[in-house]
Amino acid sequence: MALIDLHTHSTVSDGTETPEELVETAAAAGIGTLALTDHDTTGGWDRAAAALPAGMRLVRGAEFSCVSLTGRPATPGDRATVSVHLLGYLFDPTHEAIVAEQRRLVAERVDRLRRMAQNVAADYPQLDADRIFDHVPEGTTPGRPHLGQALMRAGVVGSVNEAFAHILRNGSPYYVPKSDTPVERAVQMIVDAGGVPVFAHPLARKRGRVIETSVLADLTALGLAGVEVDHPDHSPEDRELLRGTAKDLGLVPTGSSDFHGTNKTTPIAAETTAPEAFEELVAKASGVPVVAGS
Ligand code: AMP
Ligand code: FE
Ligand code: FE
Ligand code: ZN
Repeated sequence: MALIDLHTHSTVSDGTETPEELVETAAAAGIGTLALTDHDTTGGWDRAAAALPAGMRLVRGAEFSCVSLTGRPATPGDRATVSVHLLGYLFDPTHEAIVAEQRRLVAERVDRLRRMAQNVAADYPQLDADRIFDHVPEGTTPGRPHLGQALMRAGVVGSVNEAFAHILRNGSPYYVPKSDTPVERAVQMIVDAGGVPVFAHPLARKRGRVIETSVLADLTALGLAGVEVDHPDHSPEDRELLRGTAKDLGLVPTGSSDFHGTNKTTPIAAETTAPEAFEELVAKASGVPVVAGS
């Protein structure tokens, strides 16, 4: 049975395989339905679609950088905010609000990565902060993994993972925040564009604080369609918790690898989505169709 992996990244954001290579890797791993979900861009859609072998399907998507309260505020200001990721599938890529927001976010990411590189270079002069974008292809959404790669090339760390553990993690002295989209607004934008919003890795605790499930309940009322349950960063206990939450709220549970090539250690198809769950998501979409290779 062909596998379904609904969350992967290419060189159009912070993955290490081009969209063409990603499609080839997916096919070799037995994936029949692949979603391309680069951070804050649809720039890889056409390349991935053109590379599809016969019989393979492409779900065109993106991972939206968002900010959320951690829970329901009892009194104004009593809740922290956290950065969260929202997957959007099959939305109209020409939808004005999405185009404008993605443009804003990518510009912000360029500036923020430059500032982070300057912060890091102050302590690690081996890093040439002025050349941080030399290895970031034109049209790519830049992210911390690109800085991790630069630190590897400079011999400061042995892997991107190590760069995150010591230098790039949330809350590190070198970290520079960016102003992401309020998650409620992102859900609305995706729905307005005919797409299907799915909350990505809500309980990825190693990244820092996570949301309470009340946030998922409130987003469901706004049109959230699914939640990533099986994700490499979720513990077995949290997966069970989320499976229950999804059932209670009527959210479609998904499973995905969040493949980033060699920027992460998880192989493609390490986690997968059930065919019935996938069909439920597709039935809600009206933006663009699933593409089949011919
Ligand atoms: P940014 O979007 O620039 O804030 O960077 C976040 C990205 O870094 C995520 O999308 C992941 O791809 C990557 N990332 C986060 N934590 C790690 C880690 N421990 N090791 C490798 N990559 C990571
Ligand atoms: Fe990423
Ligand atoms: Fe993510
Ligand atoms: Zn991702």
